[in-house]
Amino acid sequence: MSSAAPSPASADLPGWRHVYSGKVRDLYVPADVPDSDDAERMLVVASDRVSAFDHVLSPGIAGKGELLTTLSMWWFDRLAGADGGPRIPNHLVDGAEPPTEVAGRAMIVHALEMLPIECVVRGYLTGSGYQEYLASGTVCGIPLPEGLADGDRLPEPLYTPAYKAPMGEHDENITFEQSVELVGEERANALRDASLAIYARAAATAEAAGLILADTKFEFGQDLEGTLTLADEVLTSDSSRYWDARAWREGASPAERMASFDKQIVRDWLSANWDKTGAPPELPAQIVDRTTARYRELLERLVA
Ligand code: ATP
Ligand code: MG
Repeated sequence: MSSAAPSPASADLPGWRHVYSGKVRDLYVPADVPDSDDAERMLVVASDRVSAFDHVLSPGIAGKGELLTTLSMWWFDRLAGADGGPRIPNHLVDGAEPPTEVAGRAMIVHALEMLPIECVVRGYLTGSGYQEYLASGTVCGIPLPEGLADGDRLPEPLYTPAYKAPMGEHDENITFEQSVELVGEERANALRDASLAIYARAAATAEAAGLILADTKFEFGQDLEGTLTLADEVLTSDSSRYWDARAWREGASPAERMASFDKQIVRDWLSANWDKTGAPPELPAQIVDRTTARYRELLERLVA
């Protein structure tokens, strides 16, 4: 594992103390709070690192942290009611400004008690869902009609939760019943209902921009009053698959149908050029540039 991106994790940010770096993001707490568990706020800084198949790749994708943060913030705002829909509470601290050193790629958020579930919604069949379907005719144990192809639209969007493994470990698909065991029936129902509702709302917005939101993943936490709150990043090209709607309708091959605005470009190149043992190869400049261009185009089409 390596990364050519500068490591903001070690950078000094006035007023903040670094506590954790995930594969893509770096977390800080206010420097004046000695025990990070007591922190009420966190600074989440998105780097230009890109990960696939649980590896951080090299080089990074220049500008990715800023593009994804802009997209996340835009969706949080839409979902808070800017799109005319009901207000979905989110973890952003109103009016709080991240340090100028990381401006544009950072958010100040309320530190929440996170629920250990990745709330995945799939409107289309692809990726690990398609692999499972080929093997058993199901997705996360949910039986599907026969004869579906890679990239096909599902009869209805499916909620397919995953257990959010502790830091660095691989997340694991679970059944809805297992999610009930993890967080209780009421919470599990609320997570499913909120996830499906947000997916439907976001998919409609994407459609209006000529985009398909094929699938996505949400994370929720709860605040001190127990309010279910949308956290983490939301509807970014790291947490979602976006395709071009016209290419999907008209494309002759799976690759043409799933013309992607997300890191599928990177996944596809790696799958073709690496046997998944040892360290992954350096990404060629052309793959990096294409990924950057597609991330940028996604933002322009949605936010324009
Ligand atoms: P990796 O991506 O390397 O597998 P990760 O998902 O833990 O690990 P990141 O996504 O880079 O790493 O870091 C974000 C972390 O912050 C996640 O663990 C996420 O659940 C957590 N998080 C996001 N929003 C909040 C919040 N408001 N309060 C507390 N934790 C949060
Ligand atoms: Mg994450």
